[in-house]
Amino acid sequence: MSLKLIFSPTLNQSAVQMCQDYWAYKHNGQYIEHIEVLCRQYDVSYHVLFEVLAGCQAYLDDVHCEYCGRPYQLDVPADIPYIRKQSSWFCEPCISFSGGQLTVGR
Ligand SMILES: [Zn+2]
Repeated sequence: MSLKLIFSPTLNQSAVQMCQDYWAYKHNGQYIEHIEVLCRQYDVSYHVLFEVLAGCQAYLDDVHCEYCGRPYQLDVPADIPYIRKQSSWFCEPCISFSGGQLTVGR
């Protein structure tokens, strides 16, 4: 898997580690537990965890928009297996630019 993480310069070392652990989710359907474990491990609330995660953008660098080549930006790790099943993908700006002529996953 080629997951690329881009961190905001405002994140400190432990925040970066927290993001890396978050994105290391194993896709076993235990997403909520995964979050709980992270919060316990770093002794933070959900609120703080997601605030930190907002400073990190995750991309799948082997899945690109077929139109402009932009890498797929992930919202949650649970999306990864779903995205990988798509035969093609177009990013939101391209879909809205085309007025809906480009469609996802056909
Ligand atoms: Zn695009």
